[in-house]
Amino acid sequence: MKDDVKKAIRGIALQNASEHEGKTRNDAVISKILGSRPDLRSKAKEIMPLISEIVSDINKLSLSEQKSELESSFPELLVVKPKQERVGLPPLDGAENGKVITRFPPEPNGYPHIGHAKAAIIDEEYAKMYGGKLILRFDDTNPENERLEYYAAIKVGLDWLGVKYDQIKNTSDDMELIYKKGLEMIESGNAYVCTCDKETISKNRREMKACKCRAGDHDQNIKRWHDMFEKYKPGEAIVRFRGDMQSENTVMRDPAMFRIIDEIHPLLIDKYRVWPNYDFAVAIEDSIDGVTHAFRTKEYELRNELYYTILDKLGMRKPKMFEFSRLEFEGMPVSKRILKPLVQDGKVSGYDDPRLPTLEALRRRGIVPEAIRKFVLSLGFTKSDTLAPFDTLESFNRKIIDVTSIRLFMVTGPVKIIVKNNKLTEVELPNHPQRDMGKRRVELDGNFYISGEDAKTLKVRDQIRLIELYNVKITKIGSEIEAEYTGNDFKAEFPKIQWIPQKSAVKLNILIPKTLFVNEKFNEYSLETKQAYTESHYLELNEGAEIQFVRFGYCRKDSAMQAIYTHK
Ligand code: ATP
Ligand code: MG
Repeated sequence: MKDDVKKAIRGIALQNASEHEGKTRNDAVISKILGSRPDLRSKAKEIMPLISEIVSDINKLSLSEQKSELESSFPELLVVKPKQERVGLPPLDGAENGKVITRFPPEPNGYPHIGHAKAAIIDEEYAKMYGGKLILRFDDTNPENERLEYYAAIKVGLDWLGVKYDQIKNTSDDMELIYKKGLEMIESGNAYVCTCDKETISKNRREMKACKCRAGDHDQNIKRWHDMFEKYKPGEAIVRFRGDMQSENTVMRDPAMFRIIDEIHPLLIDKYRVWPNYDFAVAIEDSIDGVTHAFRTKEYELRNELYYTILDKLGMRKPKMFEFSRLEFEGMPVSKRILKPLVQDGKVSGYDDPRLPTLEALRRRGIVPEAIRKFVLSLGFTKSDTLAPFDTLESFNRKIIDVTSIRLFMVTGPVKIIVKNNKLTEVELPNHPQRDMGKRRVELDGNFYISGEDAKTLKVRDQIRLIELYNVKITKIGSEIEAEYTGNDFKAEFPKIQWIPQKSAVKLNILIPKTLFVNEKFNEYSLETKQAYTESHYLELNEGAEIQFVRFGYCRKDSAMQAIYTHK
């Protein structure tokens, strides 16, 4: 066998071993070598023994020996290939190109959060994957909870996320049709009007017992249906689906299909008082909207039987329903039911409080939409209920914002330091260590602030380096520190300390969001405020600018006086 083949094998084996903690395997090497050298494919049998021998030789070397040989003899193999970003969505069952229709159906009863982002992004990605269509449908048939403000907030949230829908509609647009289908169910005996009280209904459902109303005849049901629009008061009558009171699936025990709600609807005001329940409305809507693939979170799984049965009884087209896991974070609830009381009780400052997982809060904190999309896709389409790590979202975000974040100095718990023989009156600081983002001028007069944390470590005669400036020696420590200039040469051993010129320092509050719930209880210390000083250049940045405060972390400018900590 030619030497060049041996060499090629050795290179690949070294590369593979160094990527796998010093151990390589025959099968890994063979597939790589045949992949890169098609000319050897017909000689696989002959080269096998050679590979075994080389693999075993290389496995005897230490990882550092492997790495150094790789560096000296095969530098071309050291080039790191960027890992292909894994897009986690599997192909969709029964999907045909150009024919897929998905929908995102939020109820306008609260502000959108990252859980909605997950649902909407999955809906959109699948529509895109198959050249199909995404419908945004406001599921607005419970006027008790719904407000105009929330329709708007959801649209704003989706725009910000960059989720583009092809059609927008409201379930409430279709009330007449939904009534028609409701009546059809009653006419065909698949539904009846029940006038039992709420407690009796729940008790019967638990105990698998039918009530008298279930036996009511056609005329009784039709009369009661009409009375629901005029006579009955809320709670006095509901339409129930005739399911199976003995079903193991509790959802199927004659669930409610319509109820009376005498509240002002945000769009239709007082036009209607009989409103469809979720299960009935969603089945009808998905079917008539042409939805081919419908997704919802796993806790709805038991409702699938009802969804399909309703459509069967009405002889309507059935979409395919799929479930994925709810997005939840440790200590950060992703649910309107929990978020709303926090805002209403003033535990947090509003829906954009940086501790919350609402889209407004994430935006204000400095999380960018591309990071949310990458994060959602990295989780994939699974039903397993693992708490998603917020860190993962942060690391996607960090990669994106790092390249555009300006570097600024910032000190907390400021202590004054005076450099007696300062001669510099101005210095230029780079706005980014690698990228060309320009420089800023900073005026100097020898009077600085440094961080209290740094000041605490200093003793008289210590030498330190004021970053990007010069070295100084501490001469006196009191309420103010005194120091003298000792030179410009960079000395690795000097602690590097950031500084702010006193005369132009800008006072700043930095809000640091922490875990909202600890042991299921609201954490009263979940928002920390740090008093800080930063450079005057801060005032020239736009609101919303992302900054990396040197040796602290990424923050987003919230106002002239306030920044919000994004992440490390
Ligand atoms: P909430 O508990 O926040 O009220 P919801 O499911 O009632 O949640 P909807 O407005 O009805 O909220 O949700 C619209 C879509 O978003 C639904 O398909 C729902 O499954 C999905 N969704 C809501 N919360 C999450 C979440 N935490 N993770 C993933 N998807 C979610
Ligand atoms: Mg809901």
